[in-house]
Amino acid sequence: MRGERRIRARPLRDAQRARPAAYCRRCGGELYRYDPVLPEGGGRLCPVCAGESKRLEDERASDDVI
Ligand SMILES: [Zn+2]
Repeated sequence: MRGERRIRARPLRDAQRARPAAYCRRCGGELYRYDPVLPEGGGRLCPVCAGESKRLEDERASDDVI
């Protein structure tokens, strides 16, 4: 019965596990380990910025084709 106190003494801080692993090179947003991050020019972009840059590349590519 008294052993329960020792078990509960273990600190369980889930918030500490959600520390940002990196920062978006473009908007400075926090990137976490579970976020899909695309490497670009040595920096890292959040999914939003990665999608924007990809869209710009697509527009540029279509300009070249036409
Ligand atoms: Zn970003």
